[in-house]
Amino acid sequence: MSILDPYILHTVKRPAVVMQKGESVYLYDENNKKYLDGIGGWAVTSLGHCDLDLNDALINQAKQLWNASPYFLNRPMLNMSEFLCKKTGFDKVFFCSTGAEANESAIKLARKYGQKFKNSAYKIITFKQSFHGRTLACMSASGKEKWRALYEPKVPGFTHIEANNMDQLKRAIDSDTVAIMLEPIQGEGGVHEFDASFLKALDHLCKKENVLKIFDEVQTGIGRTGTFCAYEWTGVKPDILTLGKGIGGGFPLAAMMTHEKLDIFEAGDQGATYSAQPLGMAVGLEVCKKVGNQGFLQKVLETGEYFKKSLESLKFFGKIENIRGRGLMLAFEVPDKAPELMQLCLEKGLILNACDARTIRLIPPLIFEKKHVDEAVAILKEALSELS
Ligand SMILES: *Cc1c(COP(=O)(O)O)cnc(C)c1O
Repeated sequence: MSILDPYILHTVKRPAVVMQKGESVYLYDENNKKYLDGIGGWAVTSLGHCDLDLNDALINQAKQLWNASPYFLNRPMLNMSEFLCKKTGFDKVFFCSTGAEANESAIKLARKYGQKFKNSAYKIITFKQSFHGRTLACMSASGKEKWRALYEPKVPGFTHIEANNMDQLKRAIDSDTVAIMLEPIQGEGGVHEFDASFLKALDHLCKKENVLKIFDEVQTGIGRTGTFCAYEWTGVKPDILTLGKGIGGGFPLAAMMTHEKLDIFEAGDQGATYSAQPLGMAVGLEVCKKVGNQGFLQKVLETGEYFKKSLESLKFFGKIENIRGRGLMLAFEVPDKAPELMQLCLEKGLILNACDARTIRLIPPLIFEKKHVDEAVAILKEALSELS
């Protein structure tokens, strides 16, 4: 607790800054201090802050219909579902509000499949350092070391193995295994990408053993890595895909997508009060149309490459290593100094995220341009020089 937030339940250590306004890739606090946003609301504000088209979509829909209950269809939900399915090649979508909720849906769907088609198999294999959200089942699925002892007992049925370790995967699969769940690039875990060869082998094994593949693309999806979804460059298409964060451009929206053969929920098995509410559908469709444009995605790739190259130049100013990532999901390491660097940059007007003591993550709005990269790198240069 600080003097600023006496009524807010403590869950996170926050800086003493009150944000007031957002515009494009910048945030402004109540003192009108300007910040370059290198995290985009945590990979959420994919089109930057207060994008005019998104504002229009939201306001026009707000004048028309907010909520008719999830019992009724609404036109924006029909439009958005058609767009997403045609864009991705998946057949079916379930909408919800948060990434954790989308992952819960995926876990339930996998268990339903096990019950119906695989002798009640229910186990799901996930990976160390993975992050799948904060509901109890999603925390149980997550491989975050810090959560291991938290909120026991966990939801049973999850096994955590090392990423890219085929031997462990083969040993972990048994007749009760119904799914493997992974982030193509682990986000909260520090931007670690799965090897293409491992994913190929995993795909092969899943087909052989009748095990479903769930890709949690809550962070990597919707243009973040330079393709509409990350599975496109992995060469492996999941049976179940979850989306969140960037899909709403800042509006709470998430989705689970799957194929026709997994359209197996019975009425009442799954649902949500805010499932496919019109406001989110209207905004989400606008986000997906803009991000799904080939020229837009190409630019994300180019800006990402430019960002990586520019980060290399920082090696003259401080000890930085392991620059990595794809598109605009990047990270680098500053051994033991990440939180300090994050703090210093914040003071200088650049928002970054330190995932741990050594890792800095960059997940800016997808509309970042080279000039914004230059601006970020200039501040980083200054901060790194002061640190060393
Ligand atoms: C953020 C995140 C989630 C959780 O999303 P919420 O909207 O916070 O529930 C799940 N999986 C991944 C990969 C994420 O990055």
